[in-house]
Amino acid sequence: NAKSSGRNCHQFFNQDIQLEAERKAQLHFHLKKAINQNELELFYQPIVNPLSGKIIKAEALLRWCHNGQYISPVEFIPIAEQSGLIVEIGEWVKTQAALTAIELKKSGLFIPISVNVSTLEFCSLELQKRFLQFFDRVVDKLNMEEFPYQMITLEITESLMMKQQKEVSELLSLLRHRGIQISIDDFGTGYSSLSYLVSFPVDQIKIDKSFIHQLETDPRHKALVEAIVSMSRALELTVVAEGVETQSQVDFVNQQQIQAVQGYFYYKPMSKSDFFGLL
Ligand code: C2E
Ligand code: MG
Ligand code: MG
Ligand code: MG
Repeated sequence: NAKSSGRNCHQFFNQDIQLEAERKAQLHFHLKKAINQNELELFYQPIVNPLSGKIIKAEALLRWCHNGQYISPVEFIPIAEQSGLIVEIGEWVKTQAALTAIELKKSGLFIPISVNVSTLEFCSLELQKRFLQFFDRVVDKLNMEEFPYQMITLEITESLMMKQQKEVSELLSLLRHRGIQISIDDFGTGYSSLSYLVSFPVDQIKIDKSFIHQLETDPRHKALVEAIVSMSRALELTVVAEGVETQSQVDFVNQQQIQAVQGYFYYKPMSKSDFFGLL
């Protein structure tokens, strides 16, 4: 009867929540040890100029393999954020990306590395200071003259700007003056106002793959992307189209004169050795 099926429903619901909580707790437990156990790896996905096919940049993407099982960053990054582990993980990611960027420059390859940074890596004055000093620490450790800032792009998200923190904006400005580029990841999917594009130090917008994927099925997405592109042009921001998978998406991107494209149509994320092999 209705009453017992209602009870069953509840039961399944509770079970689901409990299973999810258990998986989260387990992942958190193992993630704490992932760095020391060498389970993390940074992959690289080339970003190309769609006209020449040349690789102009690459995004660093974190991979976690635990007991032979691959766990998606979509699942473990939020766990790292909720638990604060993201600060240590972010430091590891930045270190690997910085080393790769330095290697590339030494090889005479000007291919900047784009690094995802979590809003939580900026959530206190202490962390902001640590973030700024990160590059000096690398320079010290490697006995270098100066960090090749032009080789690094930081991918931030709209949630960072929503806080409108003066301190964060100043920190990014400082890094930007040294030559780092600031890119807005997943542009258009957050809830922030557009005014930050003017008040925040920004160089680049990454059009979220959800817009690109819906170009064919919904003409309104075409209009949205066109509007984003023309706004970026007016604000002198460069544009990266993310998630390009098909020829018709490439055609659209070319038609819009978008000069940087990232997606499976060109390359999937790959290990560092595959990336260097490719180059
Ligand atoms: P994101 O920063 O937007 O990265 C782009 C995602 O789109 C990557 O997923 C990439 O593999 C995927 N992608 C690229 N081209 C295509 C395509 O043509 N089709 C489809 N369907 N997907 C494509 P991935 O590697 O699973 O990472 C997911 C998210 O996890 C990232 O989204 C980012 O938010 C986060 N993440 C990854 N690495 C890091 C990291 O080192 N630090 C932080 N804070 N977040 C990271
Ligand atoms: Mg990204
Ligand atoms: Mg991101
Ligand atoms: Mg993105």
